[in-house]
Formats: sequence, C-alpha cells, structure tokens
Amino acid sequence: MLSFDQVRDMLVSSDAESCERLRRAADDARKTCVGDEVHIRGLLEISNHCRRDCMYCGLRRGNKKVPRYRMSDEEIIDVAARLADSGIKTAVIQSGEDPALNIVRVCRLVERIKSSFDIAVTLSLGEYSREDYASMRSAGADRYLLRHETSDENLYAALHPDSSLANRLKCLEWIKDAGLQTGAGMMIGLPGQTIDSIANDILYLKSFGVHMAGIGPFIPDPDTPLGNAAAGDFDLAMRTLAVARLTMPHLLIPATTATGVLRHGGRARALQFGANVIMVNATPDSFRELYKIYPNKDRDEPYSEDPFKSARDMILSEGRIVSEGYGHSPIIFGTRNE
Ligand code: SAH
Repeated sequence: MLSFDQVRDMLVSSDAESCERLRRAADDARKTCVGDEVHIRGLLEISNHCRRDCMYCGLRRGNKKVPRYRMSDEEIIDVAARLADSGIKTAVIQSGEDPALNIVRVCRLVERIKSSFDIAVTLSLGEYSREDYASMRSAGADRYLLRHETSDENLYAALHPDSSLANRLKCLEWIKDAGLQTGAGMMIGLPGQTIDSIANDILYLKSFGVHMAGIGPFIPDPDTPLGNAAAGDFDLAMRTLAVARLTMPHLLIPATTATGVLRHGGRARALQFGANVIMVNATPDSFRELYKIYPNKDRDEPYSEDPFKSARDMILSEGRIVSEGYGHSPIIFGTRNE
C-alpha cells in the first residue's frame, strides 16, 4: 500500500521525465490488471433542475440564466432503447438534485429499463437516504456515481453551502451497503485545493474501497461565483489518474468529459494514463446544451454525427479494444487478474 508521502511525491513530480515514467507504470498496471478493453457508457442527463447551490456548478439553483428542463419517462425510455439497440451495455442516468426525482419515480424508471432492455444502469442523481439507495438496488440499478468532490472538509464546506462532507461520505457508505457498484471521485484544481488534499482524496478512495472513480479537472463556469477562477491543471489531472490506477489497479476509471473539454484529445490522453471507461453523451440535442455544469461541455466531440463511432475510433486508434460486455467492476464480480 502506497503511503501518503509516496502518493504526494508522484503527484508533485511535474517534470516531463517523471510524468512519462508515471504514465508508463500506470499503463502497465492497467494492462496487467484490467486489460486493453475500454467500456463505453451512454450518458443521459435527465434533468437540470437542482436544489443545491454548489459554488462551481452551472446547474446551481442560484443560476437564473439557465433554462431548466426535465425529461419525461417516455423520453428517457426512448433513449435507453436506442442505446440498447446500438449495443451499448450501460446507461448512465445523471441529473441535478431534482425533487421531482422522488424514489418512487426513480425505481419505476429503473424497473422499466431493466425489464425491457439488456443494459446495465448506473444512476448519478445525488444524495438520497439509506433506504432509497437500497430501493434503487432492489429495482435493478447496478451502479451509483456520487463523487465526494474533495475530501478536504474546509474546502468542501466552502464550496457546498447547503451540504456536508460527512453526509456525502455517509451516502457513499449507504450506496455500497446497498450492493451497488460504487463510484466516488473528485475535481482537480478547485480553488483552494492543495496537492496534499488530492493525495488524501486518493487515499480515501483506496480505504473506502470504491469500484469506480471519476476524476476530472475543474472548469470555471461564468455563471457561478467561481467564474473567474483558473481551470484545473491538465497534467496534474493526468498524474492523478495515473496514481489512482497504481493505487487501485482494478478500478473502473473514466476518461472524463471535462478532460476532453479542457484539452482537445484529452480523453485519449487519459486512456494512456490509466483510464478504461468512456462516457458518450446520449442526451437528446434539445436538452444537451442546457445540462451546462460548465461551459463547452461538448467540445471534445463537436460535430460528430455519431459520437459512439468517434469513441470507438478513438479507442482503436489508441491500440485498445472496444469492450462488448457490461463493464462491471472486476472487484465485485471476482474476475480480476492479479
Ligand atoms: N447531482 C449529481 C450529479 C452532479 S454533476 C451529484 O450530486 O452527484 C456531476 C459532476 O460534475 C459533479 O459531481 C462534479 O464533480 C462535476 N462538476 C460540476 N461542476 C463542475 C465544473 N465546474 N468543472 C468540472 N466538473 C464539474
């Protein structure tokens, strides 16, 4: 097990030679432990209503500039059908914290999708109760993504005026207890974040025993209080992916959208630094622009007629294999290579 100092040293060593050494080590660990397959997920952003006021997020309730939308159950089912038809094996259903997404509706939706299509369902809807997460699992949900955002308690409090790190971490425990494959993760380059705190984020992910970790750079949104802050450092984000892979070799690690927005070709680079998952936006065009957690969210794949084909092409051009399975966590399913 890597110590805090070892993790910290890898994160701070920013010269080209150290970065390349780190990249190679992470790439080797990735190849040995989870192979060359990259799992493609279809991302569906079902509502941009949000009751929270997170300082960094363009969907915060205080942002009066963004028109709000909510997809109907029928619209959601249509997209799930389209994904399943095209051979996509996971639908990631994400949303702002929308009070309209009560547990009865969420469970009904998951049951309909799971009984109609051969597809895994990942939910990413924010904070619920222990009982609610258990109900989502009973309804058939496979995975749940709830980034812890930062493990630094003071920074968390400064960025989240109406929630607490303690509750976020409790939710993650409940998600795991419910038997859902559990994803946490953090933004890199939040104003006020230190390298020490990123090292602690990685150690938290490790000690909690996550199955997935979403790690991406912070991107300032002009319609938030952090609009004038600097964006996260791309290379630090890459080093963090690599250290996460080395610390937790069997993890599902997405090449996040924000990585591709911050730098053209960023997601391909993330695949070289240990990532093994790609999320492709499947939100209908009319809503997509409104799910603006930060600006230019679609810049990595702007005019592609078929973003799923672009993702497959990118995977192949990186010398990797397009997974045809569900891409479940090898930790939970006991299929890991040692
Ligand atoms: N309501 C859900 C989904 C939130 S949006 C939840 O609470 O989990 C998904 C993720 O986008 C967040 O967890 C956050 O890490 C990321 N995000 C939000 N604003 C961002 C920004 N300005 N830059 C980069 N990532 C951001």
